[in-house]
Amino acid sequence: MIIDLHCDTLMKLLDVPAGGDLYRNCWNIDIEKLRHSDYLLQDFAIFVDLQEHPDAYARYTEMKRVFTEQMEKYPQYIRQVRTYEDISACARDGVVGAMLSIEEGGVLGGDMDKLQAAYDDGVRLITLTWNYPNELGYPNGTEGEDKGLTARGWEFVEWMQSHGVIVDTSHLNDQGTRELLERTSRPVMASHSNARRVKEHTRNLPDDLLRLYGEKGGIIGLNFSRNFVSPEPITSLREIDNPKMFSRLVTTEEYHAIQTGQAPRPTGELTEPLIVSKVADIAKHARYMVNLAGIETVALGTDFDGVQPYLEVHDASEMDKLVQALKREDFSDDDIDRIFAKNALRFLRDTLPHAEQA
Ligand SMILES: [Zn+2]
Repeated sequence: MIIDLHCDTLMKLLDVPAGGDLYRNCWNIDIEKLRHSDYLLQDFAIFVDLQEHPDAYARYTEMKRVFTEQMEKYPQYIRQVRTYEDISACARDGVVGAMLSIEEGGVLGGDMDKLQAAYDDGVRLITLTWNYPNELGYPNGTEGEDKGLTARGWEFVEWMQSHGVIVDTSHLNDQGTRELLERTSRPVMASHSNARRVKEHTRNLPDDLLRLYGEKGGIIGLNFSRNFVSPEPITSLREIDNPKMFSRLVTTEEYHAIQTGQAPRPTGELTEPLIVSKVADIAKHARYMVNLAGIETVALGTDFDGVQPYLEVHDASEMDKLVQALKREDFSDDDIDRIFAKNALRFLRDTLPHAEQA
């Protein structure tokens, strides 16, 4: 059983329709791959880059339409969840649960009516910022005592927490994250962030925030992006065990062309050291995070379809590679069950609306 707290598959489905639909596509996540790995729940983010899409709400609406179309096309396999009980119903009926989220609170323009509208659309998690400042707060790398959440940010957080919408701090700066963890009584999430001590990056969490997450009953999803995972490059393809990984750097456009069969997959030896997402390094992040935050705090937030190639765990059908890597880091079967689903399920029980109040 698997719960993944973050992916960008909706963006791929909208922008590159030649890649396939939600049932079967050339990306990291589709229904076939989710079913193969026995997923209970996949979060689908509506991610909007505010600079690329000045009319962010229109982009939100388009991506929401893609989500709804796919849910209506494949009801026998996948179903949107709006309450905690909906997740149990998915498990009972043997379908994958799909939770809708927003990655970039700026999509809502600080407008409480739009927040209510997103709730009515079934959005149950909002990543407060992406990599820009917005009405709610400041992104990672932008620090200072005056760079906590804005007054509107706190208003959003209060509304979200009282309605069962998860507050996600991934991409938020340290100051805002620390204030949130210290001041709110309800648990918060970092849906797709790793440990900064293992891989230096402002998107990853420093030790004191990892500890605070543990103390406050929060949850942190392990991110598979090579940028946030592996500190050392590889110099030979022999160091990785997945032939689906590419042997030279490609741009996003080239990646799309290769995945959709419009350009050949590159082959050959490495000509220069390459940072890749090694599954052994994901397991090292898990070990480090569990040591500081506790075994109840760590979950999965793969970032599939939002991260560039060079994933040793190539897609959702290959999650067993992470199971094996976690075993090599001395995690027990019970620990792995917690990281793969039980911790996230506990968190969702404590935060999502319940059927009688929905
Ligand atoms: Zn992200």
